[in-house]
Amino acid sequence: MGSKENFGLVKQLAEVCGGVVGATRPATEDEWIPRSHQVGQSGKIVAPKLYIACGISGATQHVSGIMGSNYIVAINKDEDAPIFEVADVGIVGNVMDIIPIMIEEIKKIKS
Ligand SMILES: Cc1cc2nc3c(=O)[nH]c(=O)nc-3n(C[C@H](O)[C@H](O)[C@H](O)COP(=O)(O)OP(=O)(O)OC[C@H]3O[C@@H](n4cnc5c(N)ncnc54)[C@H](O)[C@@H]3O)c2cc1C
Repeated sequence: MGSKENFGLVKQLAEVCGGVVGATRPATEDEWIPRSHQVGQSGKIVAPKLYIACGISGATQHVSGIMGSNYIVAINKDEDAPIFEVADVGIVGNVMDIIPIMIEEIKKIKS
């Protein structure tokens, strides 16, 4: 997500989905979110109905924590990112463009 400010978009997306925010180790190390939200080998194992990976490379140390997810959507600007190998749906693009559109569309559906 590039910065703590940008990471706020992930929090907005989780809020409209009625979800919670998990994170990779770099995001917790940069203090965008508390360490207790880290998912993966040295974090938590999660098993949501829907996991949306926003700008996540798909390192095995992270992916090992998300494989219990029912459905994985990944957004990454690199079409060769390893996260696409485990995603049910992959969106190649910039998270800063895609996430606001998702938030607006979900809001429309909910209303
Ligand atoms: C012993 C050990 C334990 C570890 N435990 C964990 C753990 O529990 N959890 C964990 O997560 N990691 C863990 N790690 C770290 C792990 O190896 C990876 O370094 C980490 O998961 C990478 O996080 P990332 O995908 O956020 O960052 P990066 O690897 O930096 O990837 C960022 C991704 O975002 C994409 N991107 C960048 N900008 C944009 C944009 N604007 N729009 C769309 N896509 C974009 C890039 O293409 C890239 O794929 C551990 C490492 C070790 C050695």
